[in-house]
Amino acid sequence: MEGVHDEPIDPFSGDPADPAADLESVSEDDDELEPLSAAERQDVLEDLADLEIYQALLTPVGIRGLVIECEDCHEPHYFDWDLLRGNLKHLLSSGRPRVHEPAYDPDPDHYVTWEYARGYADGVHDTLAEGSDEEG
Ligand SMILES: [Zn+2]
Repeated sequence: MEGVHDEPIDPFSGDPADPAADLESVSEDDDELEPLSAAERQDVLEDLADLEIYQALLTPVGIRGLVIECEDCHEPHYFDWDLLRGNLKHLLSSGRPRVHEPAYDPDPDHYVTWEYARGYADGVHDTLAEGSDEEG
């Protein structure tokens, strides 16, 4: 069994409830893959840029990633920074989001929302801006 390890390990592999299983078999036949519009790509690129900032600011205070309310199942899903970045890059390259690959058994204390991260980054930015304001 050599040469079969070039695909990423699927955490749902062998799980009959694997939400990706149906998606892949169905979508490749009849769904024409729509590329992202320029505006959508720009949004994703901005999210990626924000993500870099949030990760840099929040990792030192013990935050491992973001919690996102899922539009499909209306449950919060917890994503590590690396997973988020991977998902956004996947969205850029494939035109569709990855579904349901949240962190395994996450500790909610270590995840914050986009809104919290944005507010935190704004707060840090304001503090820095005030500091450099003094000579003006
Ligand atoms: Zn979900």
